Amino acid sequence: MCARDIRRDFPILDQEVNGYPFVYLDSAATSQKPSQVIEAVSDYYRQDNSNVHRGVHTVGTRATEAYEGARESVRSFIGASKTEEIIFTRGTTEAINLVARGYADKHIQAGDEILITQMEHHSNLIPWQQVAKRTGATLSYIPMEPDGTISLEQVRQSVTRQTKLVAITHLSNVLGTINPIADITKIVHAHGGVVLVDGAQAVPHMTVNVTALDCDFYAFSGHKMCGPTGIGVLYGKRELLEVMEPVQFGGEMIDFVELYDSTWKELPWRFEAGTPIIAGAVGLKAAIDYLTEVGYDYIEAHVAMLTDYAMKQLRALGGITIYGPEHRSGLITFNLDDVHPHDTATVLDSYGIAVRAGHHCAQPLMKWLEVTATARASFYLYNTTEDVDRLVEGLKNAKEFFG
Ligand code: PLP
Repeated sequence: MCARDIRRDFPILDQEVNGYPFVYLDSAATSQKPSQVIEAVSDYYRQDNSNVHRGVHTVGTRATEAYEGARESVRSFIGASKTEEIIFTRGTTEAINLVARGYADKHIQAGDEILITQMEHHSNLIPWQQVAKRTGATLSYIPMEPDGTISLEQVRQSVTRQTKLVAITHLSNVLGTINPIADITKIVHAHGGVVLVDGAQAVPHMTVNVTALDCDFYAFSGHKMCGPTGIGVLYGKRELLEVMEPVQFGGEMIDFVELYDSTWKELPWRFEAGTPIIAGAVGLKAAIDYLTEVGYDYIEAHVAMLTDYAMKQLRALGGITIYGPEHRSGLITFNLDDVHPHDTATVLDSYGIAVRAGHHCAQPLMKWLEVTATARASFYLYNTTEDVDRLVEGLKNAKEFFG
């Protein structure tokens, strides 16, 4: 398998943007979708579309099998032991909010502490601010090292008996930092707390095994890993999901409904009120099949090669600040000296190159970096060294234009 063969699977890449062949370097925001995923979703609508869990008819049974088959596929993909530990959500944000409302509101109280980091995406920060406000618990931050990493020493110093929940990203969407989740989990468990991991950026790039990590909750989104938008996953350990309250109520999640009270279905359906995201789950399964077939060994090695190649060239360019640690996953957040990142991104776009510019939904991290915004180029399995060359060329042009 090589990047050029993989590229052919992604029809969107075969176009010109502003008169140039399209270079997509914004996969950390959302990844592109291979034909295999697009066709799986389209085939589902053409052949199997029905509502799930209720029809006795043949096509309805096929839809239920497709939906529950996707759940089994997710279970095996992230190394969970039981399918009832896999809850389909709209994405990472909804998964984290479900834990905040359904678990934290019930199990955290005044005097307790919720511990997070300053590198969190707003999706893994604001829900905890809100829990702290609702419950009277304290929200605290594990201090970051100057290079944008978290040291285990700092974790050890920060976690106490009061720490009921630690919510931390597996891989930072701004710095590329990979956090040592398994070690953090050990420390937190030793003090009696639970760990929620935001895996939105990690699952697309590395093999994740929730059993090996021993985390209590793990959240991720389909759209960042070649799947459709609108589908995501909350993994939770069975014993914790059992003591969690549903936060949405209605069809699909009930057992019996009487005039003044109702009972809930067993796991995982009690957390999936309403008609679920059936086609999204089918697309997510196709994405898992696709990534598994390409292989994470290849994806990790290819993205690491591109990131190294880009780092060297960007450094050689001069007049650029690169943020984040040396050892990072496949993204580079940077600013050209004296050029606003929106201007950098606009010039790159005029050459058909898509990068992200802004605060990346991480305003507290921007504050820590002492900037208001940055540009970010992120790489995935379909990018090539030619894409990096085009980025570097585009940045040279931006420097000349604004220099
Ligand atoms: N967490 C991280 C680290 C992210 O990068 C993102 C998306 O950019 C999210 C959470 C939120 O994901 P979603 O918008 O799919 O819910």
